[in-house]
Amino acid sequence: MNDGLAQSESTQHDLASLIVAHDESNAFDAVVPPIVQTSLFTFPSYDEMIAAYRGEIVRPIYTRGLNPTVRAFEEMLAKLEGAEDALGFASGMAAISSTVLSFVEPGDRIVAVRNVYPDAYRLFGTFFKRMNIEVTYVDGRDEEAVARALPGARLFYMESPTSWVMEAHDVAALAKLARAQGVISVIDNSWATPIFQQPLKLGVDLVLHSASKYLGGHSDVVAGVVAGPKAIIDRLRGETYPYLGGKLSPFDAWLLVRGLRTLPIRMKAHEASAMEIAIRLSKLDVVEQVCHPGLANRLPPGLTGTSGLFSFVFREGVDIRAFADTLELFKLGVSWGGHESLIVPGEVVLQQKAEPNSARAFGMHPRSVRLHVGLEGTEALWGDIEAALAAAQGSQAG
Ligand SMILES: *Cc1c(COP(=O)(O)O)cnc(C)c1O
Repeated sequence: MNDGLAQSESTQHDLASLIVAHDESNAFDAVVPPIVQTSLFTFPSYDEMIAAYRGEIVRPIYTRGLNPTVRAFEEMLAKLEGAEDALGFASGMAAISSTVLSFVEPGDRIVAVRNVYPDAYRLFGTFFKRMNIEVTYVDGRDEEAVARALPGARLFYMESPTSWVMEAHDVAALAKLARAQGVISVIDNSWATPIFQQPLKLGVDLVLHSASKYLGGHSDVVAGVVAGPKAIIDRLRGETYPYLGGKLSPFDAWLLVRGLRTLPIRMKAHEASAMEIAIRLSKLDVVEQVCHPGLANRLPPGLTGTSGLFSFVFREGVDIRAFADTLELFKLGVSWGGHESLIVPGEVVLQQKAEPNSARAFGMHPRSVRLHVGLEGTEALWGDIEAALAAAQGSQAG
């Protein structure tokens, strides 16, 4: 893990210079790209309009296609991921559905790592099922199982670490298996962000994000993005993006540009606090297991750091309701990646009325709890957890 940390230092330095640098092409020499809040763009002449329609000049026509503020975000994110191009979306799910749908047809098969983000699992299990697209789930840590599943598949869908149970994979090894079979690979990199994992450099074809999480970083925007080679991004831009219509709004793109400026320093702070809290939790008698990739002997190759989201399992007899209700800094709430700390009890998620119920399918432990460790400061957060633990055990005794 020490190697990983050293590597992560230099990567973070390089990445920070990419996204903090002032873009000198802004209108009025504004230091921040302006919010171009317009639906359409007019043309000074017939000739210019026809040139735009013919694609002889690239300029915005209508915001569902191209918008300068959205473009500023896309260019920043492409730089961070080391990609030729990127495309912003109205949500992470819009990015996932538009990306996967541009490659699959009825009768195709997708291979996915197990325990992916629950709504991706539900998209595959409902809508895709109706379209006669089959999804085979494999344990991404089992490279032989992945190799057996890939032949004949159209697309390989990855997420590392996976949601909730945090199974971390050797992304480069899995991408190589997909490439050997001519299967296009896509990874959800929302958890690690390009600060800790750059999947395109590990051989993955496309990387996508729920930008609602760390990229935005302030819990004030729902958005998504896909990055990769220009030829593939052009294909998305020309096919599923305009017609499914899940476009990113100029204001949300502006919030993302602002969020990205501080991504490297925010990720370091999330990493340090979450790692320390995970270590302390793992030493407690009342905790059966902590699912945090940083607690393994070493991180998988290509993952150079860890973020603020992890889960753990309480031993029997702990009052999880009292634990959650006593916490003051950790608020009960879904999502993650913002400045604030959050808790989601597994037993609540297991009650969710959704088909298919991924919590059950994933074998989510009823005594598990997911934490997002925010930026409040490690000791303040640990104090909050200690007080809640006392209440959770005290009410058990009484
Ligand atoms: C939240 C999330 C998504 C979905 O993103 P939205 O912006 O909410 O649509 C996708 N993948 C992961 C890992 C997520 O946590």
